[in-house]
Amino acid sequence: MIHDPTAVTPESLDEVYDLLAERGRRAKIIAGGTDLMVALNAGSLAAEEFIDIRRLNELRGIEDEGETIRVGALTTYTQLIKSPLVQRSVPALAEASRTIGAIQIQNRGTIGGNVVNASPAGDSLPVLAAFDAELEIGSARGVRKIDFNRFYTGYRQTVMEPDEILLAVRLGKLRQNERSFFFKVGTRRAQAISKIVMAVKAGTKGALINYISVALGSVAPTVIRARQTESLLTNATLDVTIIELAKRTIFNEIDPITDMRSTEHYRRTVTGNALAKVLRRQVLLDGNKS
Ligand SMILES: Cc1cc2nc3c(=O)[nH]c(=O)nc-3n(C[C@H](O)[C@H](O)[C@H](O)COP(=O)(O)OP(=O)(O)OC[C@H]3O[C@@H](n4cnc5c(N)ncnc54)[C@H](O)[C@@H]3O)c2cc1C
Repeated sequence: MIHDPTAVTPESLDEVYDLLAERGRRAKIIAGGTDLMVALNAGSLAAEEFIDIRRLNELRGIEDEGETIRVGALTTYTQLIKSPLVQRSVPALAEASRTIGAIQIQNRGTIGGNVVNASPAGDSLPVLAAFDAELEIGSARGVRKIDFNRFYTGYRQTVMEPDEILLAVRLGKLRQNERSFFFKVGTRRAQAISKIVMAVKAGTKGALINYISVALGSVAPTVIRARQTESLLTNATLDVTIIELAKRTIFNEIDPITDMRSTEHYRRTVTGNALAKVLRRQVLLDGNKS
């Protein structure tokens, strides 16, 4: 049965902390509402009350911290797409944001909502995983920082306590000789839940890979890093043979499921093909430079 939670709209973070400490699981933070409203309509929302955080301007916006950028939890996809700082320093995040929903969702949906909603198909999540992002989480007990790659403990499970709120996401800027890629396979370009989604960050010198991180969504209960494939490619020189080997390694490394969107075999194959495409692009881009 659909029930109708009441809503409170706090004016300060301290107010949010007090409300969360008092209400615990009975309350639910609402940001853009683009996931929550779907859950509400489906009758699968257990909360009695919404804590609407949209008046908290301190949770909005993108800050340049020098080596890192800090993205407030309430920052929308439209803000990420339009930010020259994001385009320059974490281009994969701008690319991922462009593929999320259509313009209405990009205007309302927030990065914080994508992270805490904890869907394995969340499109910004592989970027955060590939960039080894850090999350800032606050409560009346103080602010703590958590590695993004340790945030999810299982399908739609996170390390967050009921009295906590996500404040911001921090990502290292791409350095010289580093590059990022984003790749999403869905049924169609917009409004599609991804069949697989991949983000790659690599530090290279010509065809030599000094460092690579490969993160994947929609192939496991949570977003994952393809650690075996990363080990294979680290310190490797890209050529046809290693690209083929990487494709086979990632095919075997992941353990996706068959569901209504895709079969397990399709997901493995398309993940291998996506990685090969990214690696070939890396060689081609460097080829163009010399
Ligand atoms: C038509 C449509 C298309 C979509 N397409 C895509 C897509 O292509 N790719 C994709 O990844 N997603 C997609 N989504 C899902 C959704 O838009 C995103 O996950 C979005 O980022 C959610 O953000 P929000 O602010 O609307 O979250 P909300 O719905 O407000 O909240 C989502 C969850 O996060 C929690 N939450 C939100 N902010 C915080 C915070 N600061 N601290 C603690 N908890 C918080 C809420 O309590 C809730 O559990 C789509 C949704 C719709 C309806």
